[in-house]
Amino acid sequence: MVNASERKEESEFDAKYDVIVVGYGYAGGIAAIEAHDAGSSVLLIDKMANPGGISVCSYGAMRSAHNSELAFKYLQKTNAGRTPDAVLRALADGMSKIEPYMRKLAEVNGATVNPREKVANYPFEGYETFYQTLIEEIPNFDPATYYPHVRGAPGGARVFKTLEDNVAKRGIEIWLEAPVQTLITASGGSREVQGIVVQTTDGVQRVQARKAVILACGGFEANEEMKRQYWQMTPVLAATTNSNTGDGIRMAQELGAKLWHMWHYHGSYGFQHSEYPYAIRMKRLPDWIPGREATAVVQMTWIVVDKFGRRYMNENPPYTQDTSHRPMEFFDTVTQDFPRIPSYIIFDEIGRRRYRVGAPTRNDPNAHYDWSENNFREIESGLIKKADSIYELAKTIEVEPDILETTLTRWNEACSVKKDPDFGRPAGTMMKIQRPPFYAGEVWPVVSNTQGGPEHDSNQRIIDIDDNPIPRLFAAGELGSAWGHLYMSGGNLAECLVTGQIAGKEAASLERWG
Ligand SMILES: Cc1cc2nc3c(=O)[nH]c(=O)nc-3n(C[C@H](O)[C@H](O)[C@H](O)COP(=O)(O)OP(=O)(O)OC[C@H]3O[C@@H](n4cnc5c(N)ncnc54)[C@H](O)[C@@H]3O)c2cc1C
Repeated sequence: MVNASERKEESEFDAKYDVIVVGYGYAGGIAAIEAHDAGSSVLLIDKMANPGGISVCSYGAMRSAHNSELAFKYLQKTNAGRTPDAVLRALADGMSKIEPYMRKLAEVNGATVNPREKVANYPFEGYETFYQTLIEEIPNFDPATYYPHVRGAPGGARVFKTLEDNVAKRGIEIWLEAPVQTLITASGGSREVQGIVVQTTDGVQRVQARKAVILACGGFEANEEMKRQYWQMTPVLAATTNSNTGDGIRMAQELGAKLWHMWHYHGSYGFQHSEYPYAIRMKRLPDWIPGREATAVVQMTWIVVDKFGRRYMNENPPYTQDTSHRPMEFFDTVTQDFPRIPSYIIFDEIGRRRYRVGAPTRNDPNAHYDWSENNFREIESGLIKKADSIYELAKTIEVEPDILETTLTRWNEACSVKKDPDFGRPAGTMMKIQRPPFYAGEVWPVVSNTQGGPEHDSNQRIIDIDDNPIPRLFAAGELGSAWGHLYMSGGNLAECLVTGQIAGKEAASLERWG
């Protein structure tokens, strides 16, 4: 934070805008569009040369709702008292308007916006009111050639392209390779936010925000110290980008912001490759709903065992890519060790042929790795170990052969009767591991995106430790996300759209201070 005693006089600001948006992912893009459309001059800033953050790598499924009251009930239940009703109501209302909102944005490039019925992940009241909004196609747009530095599902890139086209059409000013370092506050000890200090390619600049600053600069996936301090299990590897280092959280903290949901992150287990800077998430298999196990029909080719060769979890919980890191957290106070970090996935030759087990994602021109279709490259490189028997495989990964053999025998018996008595994996996802050669891959906890950050109210104003809004400071997107207990697939993108709109409009509605 820079205040009166340290900063230059107002007249010495290097540039002036009404609203400054920090971070150009979905949340920042939407906030900028809304602030602009409400009549404000806007500066949109990203620290990276390529904007898009995590957003551009996402699947692009934006969670939407047919009925906002039912959506609110579901959100209440799944947030378990950790997020105020007013904030959840705003999110639920916004979700019920995402589809028409995206249709309007899509006019810019003729994108095809399609709704897809998909109920929420857990069978609480209201779960059937949810669906997803996706962009299926943009004429003459190929995500792979337009964003060569990005690997992800093409849907996320299509949504980001649509935002970029909207930002460009409005002539919104964008600064790239410009990390915002700190906020400038009013003189006299006030915490009213009046601008930012940003490192640009032309040097450090002080930019005035005559109305407000919106922090949309993501979470702390790539901040090792914050992960160590807020989470018990360690290490937790980031899946996509090194840009989200909790900068906005620190800036808000400097002004006394209250933090929430810091423990909560969207994660899974995945691989660590010595020549690739990001964790490689497992192949995404379909989600299923508790109570409807019969609908889980895609076989998962692997089981997960701990350092001793024992299973300890349902490898395919209802929303595998959101919660399957959680069982890895166990710390053994006798051995003073995390016996499940790393763990191993074990599969056989049938599984090897079925599909590739890893799916790298990135928004980084300097990182390159694509998983081979048949898993051969990973076996050749030693990322996946291979052996002709379970006994030899156990030796290779240094677990007790007897234990691993017992684990496999029990697993195969469970598959025969289509019932997992130990961890309740749905029958349709179970698959015997019996055809040599056998394979093992080390897997680690992975964070796809964090949910924690500064608390905000239903107008996206950042709240301080005494529950007062910090003047002229707003949050949007996964920075200080509302998701406080059980996440819902597509929920972060929906939140980017909803909170970006609110923050943009609210910021633009303020009177100018200077
Ligand atoms: C592989 C993957 C798939 C996913 N799929 C889905 C999905 O289908 N549906 C869903 O809802 N969620 C999904 N998620 C989660 C979702 O993508 C993110 O939570 C969401 O995109 C975050 O958007 P954001 O705008 O808040 O942040 P980001 O998109 O991460 O943007 C933040 C931006 O801020 C910039 N920044 C950071 N610090 C500074 C600074 N100091 N100065 C300037 N700029 C800064 C960063 O460079 C970045 O560009 C997925 C996550 C991953 C990893």
